[in-house]
Amino acid sequence: MSYQIPRGCQDIFGDRSYQWQALENILRHICELYNYDEIRTPIFEHTNVFKRENDSSDMVNKEMYTFTLPNSKTSLTIRPEGTAGVVRSFVENKMYANPDLPVKMYYMGPMARHERPQKGRLRIFNQFGVEALGEKSPYVDVETIALAYTILSTVGLKDIKVCINTLGDDASRAAYRSALKAYFKPHYDELCSDCKRRYEQNPLRILDCKVDHDQPFMQQAPSMKDYLNKESKAYFQTVLDLLDTLEIPYEIDDKLVRGLDYYTHTVFEIVSMNKEMGAQSTVLAGGRYDGLISYFGGPKEMSGIGWALGEERLLIALEAENGPLAQKPGLDAYVMCLDESARTYAFEILTQLRAYGYRCEMDMQGRSFKSQFKAVDRMKAKTAILIGETEKAANQVAVKNLETRKQESIDREDLINYLDSLMED
Ligand code: ATP
Ligand code: MG
Repeated sequence: MSYQIPRGCQDIFGDRSYQWQALENILRHICELYNYDEIRTPIFEHTNVFKRENDSSDMVNKEMYTFTLPNSKTSLTIRPEGTAGVVRSFVENKMYANPDLPVKMYYMGPMARHERPQKGRLRIFNQFGVEALGEKSPYVDVETIALAYTILSTVGLKDIKVCINTLGDDASRAAYRSALKAYFKPHYDELCSDCKRRYEQNPLRILDCKVDHDQPFMQQAPSMKDYLNKESKAYFQTVLDLLDTLEIPYEIDDKLVRGLDYYTHTVFEIVSMNKEMGAQSTVLAGGRYDGLISYFGGPKEMSGIGWALGEERLLIALEAENGPLAQKPGLDAYVMCLDESARTYAFEILTQLRAYGYRCEMDMQGRSFKSQFKAVDRMKAKTAILIGETEKAANQVAVKNLETRKQESIDREDLINYLDSLMED
């Protein structure tokens, strides 16, 4: 019997874990500058948190890991995305009563979607996302987009495109839906089976279909911009003007509708232009949602905006552009134990070094001098601390600087000072 990780999942360990930590440290840090707090919600929720009535998205209809335990009637779903859980928590914890709106939160962690695995598309993948809840203003939209743009620039992703669109308010969208229905009606038989369902539930989503994307009739489909009312148009124009002010480059993509049904007004995606990304080139995506807070029982008319980035995809894109984001750092010191009788003495020194903030390691296998030296090389140690019977007897250690290859005997009580000055150089 052999055990294997489920399809579409991956383990992150060793050298790669450093890339993840470097990425997440930058993400956290920039979110702090923008005054976002972290929120952690459960990785499963009641199914109705994600499965909202009449939602036509693939994610909700086909991709969710939903389960009921044998002795329970409660249907639970492993989160496929972060926004719904955050909004549920915002309402449940009455965060909307906060006098300082919007409430701004970021989250990170695994999401589960039953998709066909391929490069950049997993069944368990990690998202980092933000939500700004409770205040509807173009400034909030642009602050959110600026945060996304700053993050991607800071991690070093340069070859990107910001695509933006508006879905307008309810009234504009209703007008657009009717127009789309009228337009697609004569092509109904040519639509894929998913789009036939979308035609009934939410014809906007047909524009996002990967199967029907190249059908000739898609090109002439009506454009959202011709159905926006005055308020929606003005809102979007302010968003664009503010993006110009901040010198954030963007492209208006009037076919951009996003994969979920709850979006209103501003929607956006940031796409990596690197050829290696293939079809999985969208690194970050989000938008405003007017109806979600009230869906969860929060105040009517309260709106939110957010985005999420796929951490795996971002790391693939970064690697394609610049190589790995970070690597495992070398050790400050490797403690080489040369005699079994000095092992405890060496172990004490190792512990002392760590207490003073040095990253170090010691041979635990009782290996030969030569093979310990190979370990020193593999672990890219700056120094080797050699300890044998003689050093123990004299209460000393021998420190070999691996850059200069110089070796010196140091009294134990001077070791930390000695290393401090050595590392400063
Ligand atoms: P796609 O069109 O690629 O299926 P989506 O619209 O379903 O994306 P969102 O729900 O907006 O994606 O999720 C935000 C981001 O999360 C995506 O832009 C992507 O970077 C990442 N993401 C989504 N699904 C997956 C997945 N199955 N595997 C890896 N990353 C994913
Ligand atoms: Mg998807």
